[in-house]
Amino acid sequence: MVHYGTMPELPEVESIRRQLDAVLVGRRLVDLTSSWPKTLVARGTTLTAAHGLAIDGVDRRGKVLILGLDGHLALLVHLRMTGQLLLDETGELEGPKTRCVITMDRGALVFNDQRKFGRLVLLPASLVAEDPLLARMGPEPLETSFSAQILSDHLRRHRSISVKAALLDQSTVAGIGNIYADEILFASEVNPARRCDQLKRRDIERLATAIVAVLSRAINAGGSTMRDYRDANGAQGNYLEEAAVFARTGQPCRRCSASIIKVRVAGRGTHLCPSCQSR
Ligand SMILES: [Zn+2]
Repeated sequence: MVHYGTMPELPEVESIRRQLDAVLVGRRLVDLTSSWPKTLVARGTTLTAAHGLAIDGVDRRGKVLILGLDGHLALLVHLRMTGQLLLDETGELEGPKTRCVITMDRGALVFNDQRKFGRLVLLPASLVAEDPLLARMGPEPLETSFSAQILSDHLRRHRSISVKAALLDQSTVAGIGNIYADEILFASEVNPARRCDQLKRRDIERLATAIVAVLSRAINAGGSTMRDYRDANGAQGNYLEEAAVFARTGQPCRRCSASIIKVRVAGRGTHLCPSCQSR
């Protein structure tokens, strides 16, 4: 099954983060090279400043990976459409789609990216929060502080647009894209085309609960595999096998047996159950 234009979302990036955090801490960067000039950039520092620094942790903000380097530099990895960050222990993973190689004292990180929209940004750790993408990012849905009230506060900024469009906007909630927006809206029994200012308190409470449940379940399944997603070890994710609506057009709803339909909302192909999500 092929889904063009579907990119890694929070569960996929979190799966990669967990794998890398478990094995990279303590490894030192030896060299950073790129074969496509826009892929790897330094902001407020130089690429050579990273040489010799040790990775002290791998964090995530929304769909962005953040490699900490000896406390004072950070490497942001935006996978975007087709980026893959692979751990290469044997020096065999470089190929025609490789845009960047981070050589370490043990092994390397290979960044493959067919569409070339991915970005690796080296910058001082103190500037991470000001990175243009991270600065306007909404709350992290899997932090314990996330709540229906916080979701309500952020949805209020998008009164006249559809709830699907609001979920796709990274300033509402960090890390949700097309697959999980559809899954979350199904789990909430909310129609994706419904305007944010028509949502009732109960709908927002259901949405907040579904956001946490759907994303957590997807992380446990190793994320979803579309055309290009691979985790750090090159494996695919299993979530789509248990998806409720995404990529299930014409198949029976797992709750009511009505046929799942695909419509266009917020400019994106959107899957829903017309019966469960009639409101
Ligand atoms: Zn249904």
